[in-house]
Amino acid sequence: MIRFIDGYCWWPLRFVLLISLLCIGCRGGFLGKGNPEFEDVQQKLLEGVFTPQDAPPEYILLDGYPVEYQEAIGAGIDVARKFLGNHGPVRVYILGKSRGEVGTTDSRAAFVEQYCGPRNKSTIEGFDEDCLAGPGQRLIDAAIRGDQEAYLSIVIFTDPPYAELVFINSHEWGEQDMPLRGIHEYTHVFQHQYPSAPGWLTEGGAVFFEAWLGDQNQWVDFRGAMRRSMKNALTAVADEKGLSDMEYLLDLPQEMEAYHRNIAYDMGAWAVAFIIANSSEKSISEFRDRFYPSMRDEGWKEAVSRFTGSRDLGHFYSRFDEFLQQSSHQQMELLDAIQP
Ligand SMILES: [Zn+2]
Repeated sequence: MIRFIDGYCWWPLRFVLLISLLCIGCRGGFLGKGNPEFEDVQQKLLEGVFTPQDAPPEYILLDGYPVEYQEAIGAGIDVARKFLGNHGPVRVYILGKSRGEVGTTDSRAAFVEQYCGPRNKSTIEGFDEDCLAGPGQRLIDAAIRGDQEAYLSIVIFTDPPYAELVFINSHEWGEQDMPLRGIHEYTHVFQHQYPSAPGWLTEGGAVFFEAWLGDQNQWVDFRGAMRRSMKNALTAVADEKGLSDMEYLLDLPQEMEAYHRNIAYDMGAWAVAFIIANSSEKSISEFRDRFYPSMRDEGWKEAVSRFTGSRDLGHFYSRFDEFLQQSSHQQMELLDAIQP
């Protein structure tokens, strides 16, 4: 099972984790590298996993955790679906602590069953993950510990594969933040109908959309959010690190963990703004409708170069590096050029 753990850090939050391949309960380690199933999974991810859907996401809320939190997260997901389209299939799991308790014994068991039921319909013979005691229980344990997490995981061994959007103790991030989390994680669902993109483009895209769509709903100030991101991005620049250090497709290299937030998320959000502002239409809708599909035809490097009128990826990077050297005033002006 592939799992993208994405407890990301926007304000002083729980820090970014890594993207990792889990192999819980698979017999004899048959998912080890070099095995055909492993190669298949990688291939699926590299080509794009999700598809357009008629049905909206399915929500699973831990009984006893306030429904208002589901509504707040769902409001963000709906805003993102409205702009990005309805993709999936998606199952949204929401749980956490309320009045010191994480549901009841019965409601926890029911929640874990709902989580594990579809996972256990794996198409891979011999895949006998003990979901109830393993990943299912892990959600409950995290909620009881008071951890805060928001992430997308891709359940890839089912037909069709589906997205799990998991939100644990999201209320701790505050009311305005819950819908932003929804936008961010749903953006990843949209992105994963296309071939895997580098970390900076994937996370940067999600941060850009949460700031831009979030602003339209008064959940965040777009310019303020981008200003904060620039500040973080510039600390990575000071260490002479940049986008080219954050090109991982599936696994974040350990040595880059310390820069994940500042480069993939913050510099990435600006790289996405820069891509849009340097495209012929300067339009976010065109970025959605033209840029992403072009990754399927020509791969992300060519897509980035062509969309921004750069000679090649190196040329794009050097233009972006120059942009990062500009004054804050000039940088913020770039945002004025962007059209819906
Ligand atoms: Zn993310």
